[in-house]
Amino acid sequence: MDWKETIKTYYRPEQILFDEPMAKHTTFRIGGPAECYVIPDNTEQIKETLSLAKEAGIPCHIIGNGSNLLVSDDGVPGIVIRMEENAWEKNCETADGRDCFRVSAGSLFSSFAKALCRDGYTGLEFATGIPGSVGGAVVMNAGAYGGEVKDALVSADVLTKDGEVVTLPAAELDLSYRHSNVSENGYTVLSAVFAAAKSENPEAVTARVAELSEKRKEKQPLEYPSAGSTFKRPQGEGLFAGKLIDDAGLRGFRVGEAQVSEKHCGFVINRGNATAEDVMQLISAVQRTVFNKFGILLEPEVRFLGF
Ligand code: FAD
Repeated sequence: MDWKETIKTYYRPEQILFDEPMAKHTTFRIGGPAECYVIPDNTEQIKETLSLAKEAGIPCHIIGNGSNLLVSDDGVPGIVIRMEENAWEKNCETADGRDCFRVSAGSLFSSFAKALCRDGYTGLEFATGIPGSVGGAVVMNAGAYGGEVKDALVSADVLTKDGEVVTLPAAELDLSYRHSNVSENGYTVLSAVFAAAKSENPEAVTARVAELSEKRKEKQPLEYPSAGSTFKRPQGEGLFAGKLIDDAGLRGFRVGEAQVSEKHCGFVINRGNATAEDVMQLISAVQRTVFNKFGILLEPEVRFLGF
């Protein structure tokens, strides 16, 4: 049987779409069609899909909320698995008395973090404005304003390439600045356990969340589609991608409808109808100019799909 016929037998009709425009599923609002786009609601479906892709020799990609992705205008051949299941529960206590929460990979990291902050927990205030899924946050070791996933993650349940579900303690995920070993090992994050402590001063938690939200609104071009910071912070004391881009004279620089944000030079924004090609050309031009001026090669933080 053709793989497209086989995959239909794994999913309910509303969980599977063919030629689905990825622009609908990325915060950049850019990207051509995924040949097949599925939204599993259990581990068995993910396992079956990965094993079908392997047998049929077709590519298969996992995505979360698409908030760190640039998808090619030509789309994505093969299968895109969208992790969407939204659930969390309190499930244990750590040795230091913090409560633990198991969160499914498809849950929005910011919604989970906001719910904990509302309940008076501290430790995840930094995450309340990050628009990714929990799986994507673990993969990227997402962070902001002095906090990162690494500080609060206890463990993650992952599906290995061999179809085995294993629980990996955070220490085995090689978490560092915007990096984990999840993608290089071909893992699919199924869920993650985070620890948070009850704050003795819940008003301070609420105030911090409001303060960070204000900072984002003030500093980031949230009125335009983007994938957040386009480049990683370069290594070296006091170096910031946005500042280097600004100092290179590229504030507001455009290729087609893609633009270095005037408000925050670390963001490439989609002014409306940007193509992935526009963004790619813009990224290359920024890298070239910054390298020629300062000898620093900016490494994209955004991940590329379908190129
Ligand atoms: P996606 O973009 O869907 O995927 C990113 C990568 O993770 C891909 O390689 C994908 O294959 C992989 N992946 C996703 N889910 C899984 C899974 N379950 N298993 C295996 N692999 C998976 N990031 C920060 O760190 N800090 C910020 O402050 C921040 N601010 C942002 C602000 C804006 C306005 C925007 C648009 C983005 C911002 N980001 C920030 C970037 C982005 O939100 C994070 O990188 C986020 O963690 C990505 O999660 P996602 O679910 O959207 O992942």
